[in-house]
Amino acid sequence: MKEKVIVARCESYEKSAVEKAINKIFILSDISNNHLDKVLFKPNMLSARPPEDGVTTHPAIVEATVRLLRSSKKIIGDSPANINKTVELYWEKCGYKNVSENTGVPLVKFSNSIMIELAMPDKKEEVPVVEYIKEYKVFNLPKLKTHGLTVITAALKNLYGLIPGFHKSVLHSKFISPYEFSEFLVSYYQAIKSCVFFNLVDAIISMEGEGPSAGNPIHTDYLIGGSNAVAVDMVCCSLIGLKVEDVPYLKIYKERYGLPEIEIIGDTLISVKKFHIPERKSNKIFSSKILKPFLHLLAKYFKAIPLIDHTICKKCYACREVCPVKAISQNLKFNRKKCINCLCCFEACPYKAIKIKKSFIAKLFT
Ligand code: SF4
Ligand code: SF4
Repeated sequence: MKEKVIVARCESYEKSAVEKAINKIFILSDISNNHLDKVLFKPNMLSARPPEDGVTTHPAIVEATVRLLRSSKKIIGDSPANINKTVELYWEKCGYKNVSENTGVPLVKFSNSIMIELAMPDKKEEVPVVEYIKEYKVFNLPKLKTHGLTVITAALKNLYGLIPGFHKSVLHSKFISPYEFSEFLVSYYQAIKSCVFFNLVDAIISMEGEGPSAGNPIHTDYLIGGSNAVAVDMVCCSLIGLKVEDVPYLKIYKERYGLPEIEIIGDTLISVKKFHIPERKSNKIFSSKILKPFLHLLAKYFKAIPLIDHTICKKCYACREVCPVKAISQNLKFNRKKCINCLCCFEACPYKAIKIKKSFIAKLFT
């Protein structure tokens, strides 16, 4: 059976335009006829940044989806990387506090988790996931952006946010190369996908360049929805001119499970003419069957080191607060022995003052 992916043209976050586009997606996907008992709406709340920065799912999308979906019990939640900043600050900055006040749907913290088992190619792995998935179906509300490690972040990668904050950093340090992390993501998605009810990607304004937090917002003017995150991400790739082979986790998914057959319905999808994806040589390496067994060995030489540009730094200490291993001192010096290279500080800096210095192997891969 073909996987339906619904595409709706939408050129602004104006309330009526967003509601019209989401309504179209709901009707064409038959969601309007469903009545779910309990739904967790999961936006991309990566950083405590305002909607116009294009880092987080726009609150207009969250609000319209929450309003239009029929369900007895609804909650909104995500777990940001910065575990030391209060989640209330994120809710406020990202515009979700207003969404909650306007709709009466509560915002929730991801305080409790359950362990799920993943079948990795060569071992079993256990990861903690927010406890709500035991009772609630996930309505995934990602933002389409470039990503330094996974090339893009859209439907599949946004589900990584169901893992509570600190554990995300730990996993980043465990699966350090793009190849290993993408293998992990694919296994994780296989384990979690039955909990996901629908994916609706905010691609009205996407992020090109140095995503997921330091890139440039760019109009791509679509909402893209479907129940299969892989199928949805394949259509997101078409929108920004990428092939499946360009995205490590999609390539790995194809090799392990085969890609779904897709039926695109709704509006005509017109690819964006210019969308900047940072150049990466890794995909040639991924394609090499001979090199594949050595990639795990090379991973330990993969280093991407954060450096502060003190001419830009505003001494806000967001980087210091987010660091899960306290590797940044009061005078903003890095303790390289403690640092686990999770790059949470890079993602958290609101002034783009942290740059990444890559080792030779990292340069080869990214
Ligand atoms: S200093 Fe190292 S460990 Fe701390 S947030 Fe930055 S990259 Fe992660
Ligand atoms: S988050 Fe950025 S601006 Fe703030 S102290 Fe760290 S490097 Fe400086």
